[in-house]
Amino acid sequence: MSFSLCPLLTQGAIEALLLRGSPELQKRYLPKMVEGRWTGTMNLTEPQAGSDLSLVRTKAERQGDHYLVSGQKIFITYGEHDMSENIVHLVLARTPDAPEGVKGISLFVVPKFMEDGKRNPAKCASIEHKLGSGPSSARSRSPRSASRAATSSRAGNRCPSSATPMYAGC
Ligand SMILES: Cc1cc2nc3c(=O)[nH]c(=O)nc-3n(C[C@H](O)[C@H](O)[C@H](O)COP(=O)(O)OP(=O)(O)OC[C@H]3O[C@@H](n4cnc5c(N)ncnc54)[C@H](O)[C@@H]3O)c2cc1C
Repeated sequence: MSFSLCPLLTQGAIEALLLRGSPELQKRYLPKMVEGRWTGTMNLTEPQAGSDLSLVRTKAERQGDHYLVSGQKIFITYGEHDMSENIVHLVLARTPDAPEGVKGISLFVVPKFMEDGKRNPAKCASIEHKLGSGPSSARSRSPRSASRAATSSRAGNRCPSSATPMYAGC
């Protein structure tokens, strides 16, 4: 059961990228995710934003050709592991001029390793120790830090729930 969550989340991330990702993001991320060499996550939940995602506070600020994403996500399933070459986090965050509520939420791709192979500063701060958390199903907390995100794709409330994203930005 725990192991099955990893491909499930990856499929969700693939679907989200297919539906809402730019051609550039699709080209960069989809082939390796479909091959199973890279896995995916969804990063929605924050300490103050669980069922009510309108409370998401993670920020995404444009810097040249990418965004700097900062904030904290919690309960991220497969947010950190070494079973794949890379982890592609789909992260809900707000740009500075975004409206309040769910309409101001966008979706960002935050890879564990960037295109040049460097480690993204996005980090898993701790592993949850709670009922139902198997050892192979790491749910991570990410610390408050700035991490690089590839260009965004607008999610708003139209992101499919199966794919709705994670951590990154985390
Ligand atoms: C095993 C596990 C894996 C997870 N993996 C991920 C992941 O990969 N990525 C991710 O982003 N998040 C993940 N989460 C977090 C999950 O999405 C949140 O736990 C969920 O959204 C609920 O948020 P919360 O825990 O803050 O509870 P709350 O939102 O605080 O809800 C607490 C209780 O109040 C009820 N409630 C809330 N609002 C209302 C309302 N308006 N009316 C009536 N009742 C209400 C809820 O039904 C619930 O019973 C995971 C959680 C678990 C347990």
